Amino acid sequence: MPRGDGRLSHDLLPGEKGPQDACGVFGVWAPGEEVAKLTYFGLYALQHRGQESAGIAVSNGSQILVFKDMGLVSQVFDETSLGSLQGHIAVGHARYSTTGASVWENAQPTFRATPHGSLALGHNGNLVNTAELSGMVAALPPDGASRGGRAVATNDTDLVTALLAGQVDDDGKPLTVEDAAPLVLPRVKGAFSLVFMDEQTLYAARDPQGIRPLVLGRLDRGWVVASETAGLDIVGASFIREVEPGELIAIDENGLRASRFAEAKPKGCVFEYVYLARPDTEIAGRNVYLSRVEMGRQLAAEAPADADLVIPTPESGTPAAIGYAEASGIPYGAGLVKNSYVGRTFIQPSQTIRQLGIRLKLNPLKEVIGGKRLVVVDDSIVRGNTQRALVRMLREAGAAEVHVRISSPPIKWPCFFGIDFATRAELIANGASVEEIGQSLGADSLAYISTDGMIEATGIPKNNLCRACFDGEYPMELPDPELLGKHLLETEVAGGPDAADALRRP
Ligand code: SF4
Repeated sequence: MPRGDGRLSHDLLPGEKGPQDACGVFGVWAPGEEVAKLTYFGLYALQHRGQESAGIAVSNGSQILVFKDMGLVSQVFDETSLGSLQGHIAVGHARYSTTGASVWENAQPTFRATPHGSLALGHNGNLVNTAELSGMVAALPPDGASRGGRAVATNDTDLVTALLAGQVDDDGKPLTVEDAAPLVLPRVKGAFSLVFMDEQTLYAARDPQGIRPLVLGRLDRGWVVASETAGLDIVGASFIREVEPGELIAIDENGLRASRFAEAKPKGCVFEYVYLARPDTEIAGRNVYLSRVEMGRQLAAEAPADADLVIPTPESGTPAAIGYAEASGIPYGAGLVKNSYVGRTFIQPSQTIRQLGIRLKLNPLKEVIGGKRLVVVDDSIVRGNTQRALVRMLREAGAAEVHVRISSPPIKWPCFFGIDFATRAELIANGASVEEIGQSLGADSLAYISTDGMIEATGIPKNNLCRACFDGEYPMELPDPELLGKHLLETEVAGGPDAADALRRP
C-alpha cells in the first residue's frame, strides 16, 4: 500500500522548503519498561527534526531487532510492530537526509553484525570527512571489511557504524563496541549526536563542538538520551544534564560510565535557538522559547516600525512576534490562522489545490488586519518565496502597510553540519541588499536582527556558538568542496572504484 508522504506537514508554500533539520535521536535503557513504546513517543516529540523516515532498534539482551521505514513516526509504527519489539534497550531515529538520499536503505538506525554480537546506531548531524571515513572503511581488515565492507547504505552514518563494528587491536583481535568507540570517534569530523547500542549497552556520544543538542534524562527504572529535552518530557524522564561535547556515555546493568574521547570545544548551532528546536526545549541551560521572545525584543529595539499591529508567521514566528510587541508597545494579534490539521492529511493535493499555495496552510483574518499597518515577524528567510506570497496575501486581505521583521540575520552561507538550506545560489540574501530583498518581497519595509543581537538573545557566549550560515565563520576546517555534498557516496558507488579513489585522494 503506498504510504502518504506527509508533505503537507510543514512547508507553508508547496515546493518551498524551510530549513530542514537533520534528524532526531532517542535512546532508552530501562529493564521492565516497554522501551519500544517509550522510543515511539520520544520520536513523536522529535518529529520536527526529521520527517522522511523513522526507525527503532530494540535489544532483549541477546539479540537486536530493527524496524524502520519511510514516512512519519505515526505512519511507520503501529501497535503490532511496536509489540514485536520486545527488550530493555532501544534506540530510535527520525530522519531528514543530509548525506545520502532519502531511501529505505539510508533509514536509521543503521545495523551491523560484530564479532561480539551486533550494533544499531542513530545519528543527528552531518559529517564533513565522509570521503576520508569511506577510505577507512575500505581499509578495514578482511574480517572487519566483511562486517563493515562496502556499505549498502550511502550515508555518512553507516560508515561510522561500519568503523565501530570492524575495529581490531594490534594482534588483530576484534574490539568490543565500547573499546572501539574511543578510537573511532576522534577521527569522525563534523556534527554528530549519536545514540547506539549493542545487545547489552546503550551508548551516547556528541562531537567535540557539540553542534547538535543531546541530553541525558532519568526514569524511575532507567535512563534516556534524546536530541531535545522535549523528548525527555514526553516520556516523563527528568533532565539530568547534557551529553557534553566530546563525551561518550555507556549505560548498562553496571550503571552509567562517562568518558571523554576529545577535548570539548563548544560551538552549538545558533539556528537551533532561532528555529530548529522546539520552543519547549532547553539547550545549554537556555530555554528556546525565551531566547526567541528575546530575539523579538531585540529586533524591536534595532528595527522599530510605525505600525498598528504585530502579527507572527505562525507558528515559528510567534515567540519573536510576542517579544517584538512587548518591546515596541504595539498590540500583538493573530492575523493569520494556520490549519492545524493539514499536516495530518496524507492525500496528495490536486493541482488546483496546490495552486492555492500558501492559502492551503494559512488563512488571513480580514476583520483583524483590514486597514491596519502591520509588522509581520518571521524567524528566517531562505529563498523568500514564502514571505513574498505572505505579503501579497496580507495586502489582498486589506492590510494598509506590511513591514517584515526577521528574528535572524540574512542567511548567506551553506550549512555543512546537518541543516539543509537552499543552495547558496538560491539563498535570497546571497548577493542582494536588505533593501533589494524587501522590494522583491513587496514589503513596505524589511529589517533583520543583527548577528550580535541574535547571539545576545540566546544568552550563550558568542565563541561557544556556530553561526556560520550568517557570518561564514565555520567552526572547523572543511575539506575541498568536491568532498562535501549530499550525494557524495552515491557518486562513489555509481562511479565505481575509480570514482572512489578520486574522492579519497589526499
Ligand atoms: S551553519 Fe548555521 S545552521 Fe549550520 S550549524 Fe552553524 S549556525 Fe547552525
